[in-house]
Amino acid sequence: MPNSVRGKECNRLLTSFLGKEWFLEEGAKVNIVDTTLRDGEQTAGVVFSNEEKIRIARYLDELGVDQIEAGIPVMGGDEKKCIHEIVEMGLNSSIMAWNRAVINDIKQSIECGVDAVAISISTSDIHIEYKLQTTREDVLERMADAVKFAKDQGLYVSVNGEDASRSDMDFLVEFALTAKHCGADRLRFCDTVGILDPLTTYSKISTLVNAVGLDIEMHTHNDFGLATANSLAGVYAGAKYVGVTVNGLGERAGNASLQEVVMGLKHLMGLDLKFKTEMFREVAEYVARASGRTLSPAHPIVGTNIFAHESGIHGDGVLKNPLNYEAFSPQEVGLERQIVIGKHSGTNALKAKFMEYETALTDEQAKDLLALVRAAAIDVKRPLFDKELAALYENYMKGRGK
Ligand code: MN
Repeated sequence: MPNSVRGKECNRLLTSFLGKEWFLEEGAKVNIVDTTLRDGEQTAGVVFSNEEKIRIARYLDELGVDQIEAGIPVMGGDEKKCIHEIVEMGLNSSIMAWNRAVINDIKQSIECGVDAVAISISTSDIHIEYKLQTTREDVLERMADAVKFAKDQGLYVSVNGEDASRSDMDFLVEFALTAKHCGADRLRFCDTVGILDPLTTYSKISTLVNAVGLDIEMHTHNDFGLATANSLAGVYAGAKYVGVTVNGLGERAGNASLQEVVMGLKHLMGLDLKFKTEMFREVAEYVARASGRTLSPAHPIVGTNIFAHESGIHGDGVLKNPLNYEAFSPQEVGLERQIVIGKHSGTNALKAKFMEYETALTDEQAKDLLALVRAAAIDVKRPLFDKELAALYENYMKGRGK
């Protein structure tokens, strides 16, 4: 199970923290539930066209996503039509629709032909008192009625505990046991306002797993930048499903990112889900364009800067062996390595760059040119383009009378 990134020392520390060696039991699997089309589109200011939704659904299926949360049928109109179209595409992924714990919502989902429903209701006292303005008993009753109805229709049912992370644990256990008793297939544990940290997550999910024995899905938000970390902590505690969005798109600071979770499971936890990760950059760009949310160059896993090396020490190290400064290879996520020539570059990187154009620099030429490169990069306050390097080289050679 351990791989190149997660070394022996890390395993030892993890084992002493968990009190046991961490492993996934024989035949068990971690499933990825993508909600780019539901929670992702719920991001303030984001709207996908139906064509874009269809394209995204196809991408998700191709990547290897187990279940696609396609939208909210009770919204009607285009939304409902599009969910139906996605069902009709005959993808490998299960298609799930989102519902309140309301029978009519579920009827709308059934009309779309989905095989799975998420039935959502708040479990925290703050939501029960101020949002739903009702009682815990009423929450249990509404959820039970909705789950029984959906199960009678032969649907796969995820019961979503909205604001689960801020819920009283005894009540959440009661809620989950009731859901299980009514036939629910899993509990979606929602960190709705993104206030968890990995250690607290581990403790809460362990408690649920031990007390309830129902499959658990992590649904984490990124308000403190911990969505992916919390999802992985949930998996360590026994969660078998992780809810994600492409690029971490989602309300406020977003959801756990599909790319981060899949690569984290693979490289940090040794769970290779056999996703087509080499499509990650292409899919990231598509969703960035469709959502109007540009990817920052430093975006984890898929940003353009993830495999760009400029500093002399790093550039030289990567040229000697990429593993010196890269956690995984750029090809794995559809990116390319770039040795950027700029203020911090060294002579080895400069020589390698010129070799791309079949020009072998001598040590002396490389040293002279590097001084010119540094001056130019400081001047323009950025690294240099290849054609700028070529111009510097030409001038330099002319100046030497050649
Ligand atoms: Mn959410």
